[in-house]
Amino acid sequence: MGIPNFQSLLLPMLRVAGEGQAQTFAQARARLASEFNLTAAEQEELAPSLRQPLFVTRIAWAALYLQRAGLLRSPDRHHLVISDRGREVLAAPPERIDMPFLEQCSGIAAFGGRHRSCGVCSQLKDREDAFQKGGREEEATYLPAASQNLELVRDVGDSYSRQLQLKRCPQCQTYYLYQTDYEFIVPGTEDWQWLRRLTDAEADEYSAQPVPADVVKPQRPL
Ligand SMILES: [Zn+2]
Repeated sequence: MGIPNFQSLLLPMLRVAGEGQAQTFAQARARLASEFNLTAAEQEELAPSLRQPLFVTRIAWAALYLQRAGLLRSPDRHHLVISDRGREVLAAPPERIDMPFLEQCSGIAAFGGRHRSCGVCSQLKDREDAFQKGGREEEATYLPAASQNLELVRDVGDSYSRQLQLKRCPQCQTYYLYQTDYEFIVPGTEDWQWLRRLTDAEADEYSAQPVPADVVKPQRPL
């Protein structure tokens, strides 16, 4: 069968996360390797130019994308925890979860609408991302300037990332999740930032999470 691509891992990974207890990444990895009948050699096969096995890399990407779409939460760097939205998806699962499905998931969240008439939030899409690569400055993208008006509410954790923060618009109190990655999988200097508008229910969920002990401090200003 070969090593599945990361989109093929999305639905199986969500199912593993939805099985009740929090799964560690190691457990999820073993379960998925078994589900896809991967040999030991396939599980260890190194990705070209990467420092870790291709299978591990794809699992990490699948988890990251599920998290960005709001289907998984990551209370710490070791566990997969399904969100309420993820459970809703599993209750009536599609045949396959792919990128268009994830786009739809993050787009249909109910934001209440107060952001639309807000001077800050109306300049931000429901999801924004930016990417900078060392030596390729001409291709760099940045978050909209309005994102700098958002206030830090609290650090949520640093799963898959150097930063994961709950932010809030000072004008209309809409919440956002801000996430950064630096040199996460690909070697070299690569920086990513994501900003995702949260529903109030999602913001409550992030507000209630215990602050992990290994949160990086001091905070970088945004
Ligand atoms: Zn606002």
